[in-house]
Amino acid sequence: MNIILLGPPGAGKGTQAQRLVEKHGMRQLSTGDMLRAAVKAGTPVGLQAKAVMERGELVSDEIVSALIGEELDSLAPGQGAIFDGYPRTAAQAESLDVILASRNTQLDHVVELEVDEEALVERITGRFTCANCGKGYHDTFEQPRQLGVCDKCGGTQFKRRPDDNEETVRTRMVEYRAKTAPILPIYDARGIVGRVNGMADIDHVTAAIERILAD
Ligand code: ADP
Ligand code: ADP
Ligand code: ZN
Repeated sequence: MNIILLGPPGAGKGTQAQRLVEKHGMRQLSTGDMLRAAVKAGTPVGLQAKAVMERGELVSDEIVSALIGEELDSLAPGQGAIFDGYPRTAAQAESLDVILASRNTQLDHVVELEVDEEALVERITGRFTCANCGKGYHDTFEQPRQLGVCDKCGGTQFKRRPDDNEETVRTRMVEYRAKTAPILPIYDARGIVGRVNGMADIDHVTAAIERILAD
């Protein structure tokens, strides 16, 4: 099964993807994570992407679609993919169709996380992750069970993203509205969009997504 998690920055895509990975052994394909890894490693892609990401604008369609194609080739046979933060433009949506068709597979569900934009700045500015395993947390909404210790791996180092500040988030929201939200009708026309209230508790959102996937 292949699914897209769609929603603005802070909607909960990464949080829910991590849960689906643990429960179903699917693979999370996050172009944001891939790009951050490229920036950290100082690859040519990373050098090109760094400033764009810091501004909260979108990296080129060619770059991200190439990253997705490469990652898909490393999936185990039959392993499902969770696209998190991809596609973000109509061109990327078209590329994804081609990429999947060439691998004899297709999209099963697009889950739209519907959120109140006013809540997103607080979500984003309170976000942090385990520096060792990448598990996501939040200052108010999802602290580790034991303060300062990662629930998943016991790590004690955490990090915050440089683009998780209010100004950049505003730009990212504008990008989402202008370029990403308009791809929903493509998937609506295929009847594969399921909508979830992303303002509910994290557990409730997970349960709602599970119901869509079971359909
Ligand atoms: P995205 O990947 O869509 O940008 P994240 O999954 O990283 O969003 O979530 C952004 C922040 O909000 C994280 O700190 C996460 O812990 C928190 N969060 C995610 N889902 C919820 C929710 N349903 N309620 C409250 N906080 C949430
Ligand atoms: P969030 O989880 O907050 O939605 P991401 O981690 O998905 O953010 O993305 C961070 C940044 O990486 C984006 O603001 C953008 O600059 C770049 N990026 C990630 N995915 C894509 C994509 N599919 N197309 C273009 N740019 C992307
Ligand atoms: Zn950890």
